[in-house]
Amino acid sequence: MSESSFLRPALGKMLPYAPGEQPPPGKYIKLNTNENPYPPPSPVVEAIRSAAGGPLNRYPDPMATAFRRAAAESLGLPGPEWVLAGNGSDEILTILVRGLVGEGQRLRLPYPSYILYRTLADIQAANWEQVGFDPGWQPPDAFGQSDSDLRLVLLPNPNSPSGTVVPPPRVSELAESLDCPLVVDEAYVDFAEQNCLELVQQNERVMVTRTLSKSYGLAGVRFGFLVAQPQVISEFAKIKDSYNCDALSIAAATAAMGCGEWLRETCSKMNVTRERLAVRLTELGFEVTPSQANFVWCTHPSGHHEAMYEYLRNNQILIRYMQFPSWGDGLRISVGTDEQVDACLLVLNRFLEQVSSSK
Ligand SMILES: *Cc1c(COP(=O)(O)O)cnc(C)c1O
Repeated sequence: MSESSFLRPALGKMLPYAPGEQPPPGKYIKLNTNENPYPPPSPVVEAIRSAAGGPLNRYPDPMATAFRRAAAESLGLPGPEWVLAGNGSDEILTILVRGLVGEGQRLRLPYPSYILYRTLADIQAANWEQVGFDPGWQPPDAFGQSDSDLRLVLLPNPNSPSGTVVPPPRVSELAESLDCPLVVDEAYVDFAEQNCLELVQQNERVMVTRTLSKSYGLAGVRFGFLVAQPQVISEFAKIKDSYNCDALSIAAATAAMGCGEWLRETCSKMNVTRERLAVRLTELGFEVTPSQANFVWCTHPSGHHEAMYEYLRNNQILIRYMQFPSWGDGLRISVGTDEQVDACLLVLNRFLEQVSSSK
């Protein structure tokens, strides 16, 4: 890669973030980017249709007020001023890093985890450091230690790629021991048993990000949000683009906030599929990390992870092969429909039979 001299040096040095593969629809059974296999609730689709008949020649509401009201009500927050809407939670994370971490300062993330945070630090010409999870996927005390350059700590909870959860009391403890903000990325929290919203009300340095991409089946719409104390929200609102959310996505997200029953039913259905997937993988000899998200992390004693990924891919099934330097590799499989998961297990079984018969 050539470094064009007119760009900021930080850009020349950085590697681009590589999102999971998005092939043309229909070609693969797609279990690689933790999308919902089910379509979004029908009131959301109706709201988009109806908004498409609205005044699209006019700019949307810059603060997405209707959404903030609906979100505050559905989440039991004191009011809409606790919510900031964004063009996906990735935009919210960008706003947080821009607002909190300056050039030469540092953010912290756990390892292995969601590496987009590193890209956001790189763009800022900021530094990042990774603190390894312990063998039970819990952050060690070092994760909560402050110093003067440390400006932001990020914790995906449930974590990706493990699907594991740090219990809210432990998150609270970490936040108390830190001088800087702790952002809990709750992209997968609707599949989990607990969340950290209450901590936001107790400590202005705790912030929670959410997305509609996973549990609500709206990855294609691009909508996420931040929950933080009102005096914090109003500061971050200065950083966002004036019209960061469009009229159609605001309508969709507002309607989604009224679909609590759909959400609970869909998530519990997917959690049943996840447990079935975990049991069957274990029967195939995999070691499966207990997950509270819509995916599972698994490793096989044979170590043939990359070959399994390739074999599945050649059979029109996409999962994620992940390699974490000095830690190890494995497979992350998203929870699809029961049929999709069965197809994946069938092909994995065939792979393992071929390997053992060729010995
Ligand atoms: C998917 C994901 C996001 C991004 O969500 P968008 O709202 O689609 O931008 C954020 N954090 C984690 C950990 C994710 O896995």
